[in-house]
Amino acid sequence: MKRLVILGAGESGIGTALLGRQKGYDVFVSDKQIIKEKYKQVLIHNEINWEENGHTEAKLFQADIVMKSPGIPDAISLIKQLKKKGIPVISEIEFAAQYTNAIIIGITGSNGKTTTATWLHYVLAKGGLNVGLAGNIGDSFAGQVAQNQRDYFVLELSSFQLDGIVDFKPHIAVLTNITPDHLDRYNYNFEEYVASKFRITQNQTEVDYFIYDADDEVLVKWLESHPIKAQKLPFSISKKIERGACINKKNITITIDNKPFKMPIKTLGLQGSHNVKNAMAAATVARILSIRKATIRECMENFQGVEHRLETVLKIQNVTYINDSKATNVNATFYALDSMTSPTIWIVGGVDKGNLYEELLPLVNEKVKAIICLGLDNKKIMNAFSNVVPLMIETDSMQDAVKAAYRVAEHGDTVLLSPACASFDLFENYEARGRQFKEAVRNL
Ligand code: ADP
Repeated sequence: MKRLVILGAGESGIGTALLGRQKGYDVFVSDKQIIKEKYKQVLIHNEINWEENGHTEAKLFQADIVMKSPGIPDAISLIKQLKKKGIPVISEIEFAAQYTNAIIIGITGSNGKTTTATWLHYVLAKGGLNVGLAGNIGDSFAGQVAQNQRDYFVLELSSFQLDGIVDFKPHIAVLTNITPDHLDRYNYNFEEYVASKFRITQNQTEVDYFIYDADDEVLVKWLESHPIKAQKLPFSISKKIERGACINKKNITITIDNKPFKMPIKTLGLQGSHNVKNAMAAATVARILSIRKATIRECMENFQGVEHRLETVLKIQNVTYINDSKATNVNATFYALDSMTSPTIWIVGGVDKGNLYEELLPLVNEKVKAIICLGLDNKKIMNAFSNVVPLMIETDSMQDAVKAAYRVAEHGDTVLLSPACASFDLFENYEARGRQFKEAVRNL
């Protein structure tokens, strides 16, 4: 019996444990921290061996294969030792993909993964396909493979999940964009992070598709010097594209093999130029998979968006409150500010991952009338913007931040929570941050 060791008992770890057990492995789960009660119950119920609050190395070194959760860095000594011993260390995606015959659509990028994956899943399901949505989202891929027979899977893939692949090969890969993020995990080397994202296409062949943002200089440059085998289907909101997606007279136009498919931008369910791109990517995949044009159009119009992504919460005294808590990096916040159409009170701050705020200056100068800093350490934000924004207020709780915004806001303004930072200084995660924002707004 082969021994499968799972490091990290989160969603992906537990899913892998269930699938591993179903496939006849001797499974052992090890977590450095305390395992969440609901996951512990699954392990106990399925008679899977586990430990928490530390790793017993001797037990781990007996592994034939190790599945590492995406949150665990490659650079820690335990992982280095495992690799030195010749034990393969893979991700959940690699492990689970070998046990499904479903056609896989993988979506990666710095921003827009969840929106594009959810939108695409919505279209494919409405189009009548038996399709699952997994990866960095909802229930784990491995758990779903263990439980459901699917014909298609839409997978949201982080760079960490892609780092642990060997043979994983999506039939359709989408790379939404690449901007600096998570550089702490890539030796502060942008090239390494880019290479990690491009792993999504490393095993693709000529019958597969690679869909990407042709307006993204980083992507275009990389492709010039790193040819890929898959068929390229770029999308762009500024260039003319012969095979792929572009804009023609306020319509999205998608050309793959036959007559172009068209749909108006104006009626898209989500607005903002970034969402035009997300729609292009999702609709291109839907066309490849032969979803009816009428269904695609309908779904592009009716999609409601995903919580915490430019989510309109309430209008109070003609001030609109928008929750973009998921904006955990500068690029996401760039698009949030870009899509603001009224004077904005911007709530920003948290754990900085090496942010460069300069690229926001023109937008901030144009649109932001006050900044509410929300973080334990706001120095960098204060320094970056104090010359362009007349009013800056420091807060260290969501309630205070929302109250401060309320006091400053005038008729017709927008209050935007788009932190450009991770949330861990004051909140459990970005969802908690977004929920607290919504609650504070509702309590005004
Ligand atoms: P991810 O799953 O890659 O983090 P999300 O869809 O959750 O992406 O969106 C994260 C943040 O990025 C949100 O603030 C959202 O408004 C913004 N965003 C969505 N799509 C894009 C895009 N194509 N380019 C830049 N920012 C985007």
